[in-house]
Amino acid sequence: MTENPRARETRPATAPAQGKVRATGTQVRPDSLSANGSQGAGAQTQVRPKTEGWTQQKDAEGRPLLQFASPKRGKPPVHLADLTPAERVEKVKELGLPGYRAKQLSTHYFTHYTSNPADMTDLPAGIRDDLVGGMLPSLLTEVRRLETDRGDTIKFLWRLHDGALVESVLMRYPGRITLCVSSQAGCGMNCPFCATGQAGLTRNMSTAEIIEQIVRANRLIAEGGLGGKKADDHSMERVSNIVFMGMGEPLANYKRVMDAVRVMVAAQPDGLGMSARGITVSTVGLVPAINKLADEGIPVTFALSLHAPDDHLRNELIPVNSRWKVDEALDAAYGYYAKTGRRVSIEYALIKDMNDHAWRADLLAEKLNARGRGWVHVNPIPLNPTPGSIWTSSDKDVQNEFVRRLNDAGIPTTLRDTRGKEIDGACGQLVATTEDEAAAAAIG
Ligand code: SF4
Repeated sequence: MTENPRARETRPATAPAQGKVRATGTQVRPDSLSANGSQGAGAQTQVRPKTEGWTQQKDAEGRPLLQFASPKRGKPPVHLADLTPAERVEKVKELGLPGYRAKQLSTHYFTHYTSNPADMTDLPAGIRDDLVGGMLPSLLTEVRRLETDRGDTIKFLWRLHDGALVESVLMRYPGRITLCVSSQAGCGMNCPFCATGQAGLTRNMSTAEIIEQIVRANRLIAEGGLGGKKADDHSMERVSNIVFMGMGEPLANYKRVMDAVRVMVAAQPDGLGMSARGITVSTVGLVPAINKLADEGIPVTFALSLHAPDDHLRNELIPVNSRWKVDEALDAAYGYYAKTGRRVSIEYALIKDMNDHAWRADLLAEKLNARGRGWVHVNPIPLNPTPGSIWTSSDKDVQNEFVRRLNDAGIPTTLRDTRGKEIDGACGQLVATTEDEAAAAAIG
């Protein structure tokens, strides 16, 4: 960015008539909204996005660098969860064992959530180590675990085989248990507010590395490690909902993420037997991949992290917007609904004086309504209050006004729970700190 992002502009609180847009093509130019640059009645400050404490990598043209391809690094070992059921049988035969052992091993892994040979008492003791060594190699080493006081939110820091660090966050809600999973080590999308994107993309995670986050969480739940369960509740619990909102842009690692989704929804013991509807795939707007997702025939929940309805701001806030504009991303999101019948979620982090203006709520409602009714739900996400930072929470009344305007325009809108934030485990905050790296080094 060449301009000084700390510079503050003033904008009218509501967009004038010429700010109205059609479904595609026309964009409101926030610059054109201020008649003379003076701060009129009802005007709200405009804060521009800017990194704090780190410098965004730039490409040859001086734009924020986008990395779509994963750097070449040593691949993680092949694991049962990387393979189709037929491939598992073949792999077991390659180990010199009868093919039916693959099913037994899958039952241990996907139903009992164990990779420990000692737990596999239905297998002859003499083959357990070889079978586990060949089919269930260790993928994630737990480095650190942070819990909220009630123990109903847990953040895991994992070290991958090559030393890369990723995180997942487990959250209990009434009636469901959600795991926020990582799909890449680092991220190549370079969003200026996001800790994960700071170091760029380390590498894509494998299908099994994604699945292993769930299996490890399920094991912890089965052992009673997730707090908040009612004393009189003796039900067998496990992760019911997955959100791809941890580290990485899931649609930039499309094949492995979709293979992981297939393993999640495959019936036990071939997979985890989860409901596709409980799986949320989110993206900052990789349009060709959204179109591909719509054709998969797997009814996952689709979420678009929009954060701004106008290209002027979104170009700075979400650098991939330079590739696919707001209207293109919304068209693709609508296309997902049209093909699958699944209502789309729009994620919108409310950032004080940056994207929380009333006219932006109106513009967002207008753009969504222009594409139809009943196809979309908006989730504004309040940030944590961060004194002194431009990345801080909107005032309560501004949040409420934003939500009210969308609801009044007929767009179902609910402020989202931001539970994970108290342990820095919410989307866009998942990054290994120096302290984490020291902890990883200490465990060898
Ligand atoms: S907000 Fe999401 S897409 Fe953007 S850098 Fe962070 S992890 Fe990547």
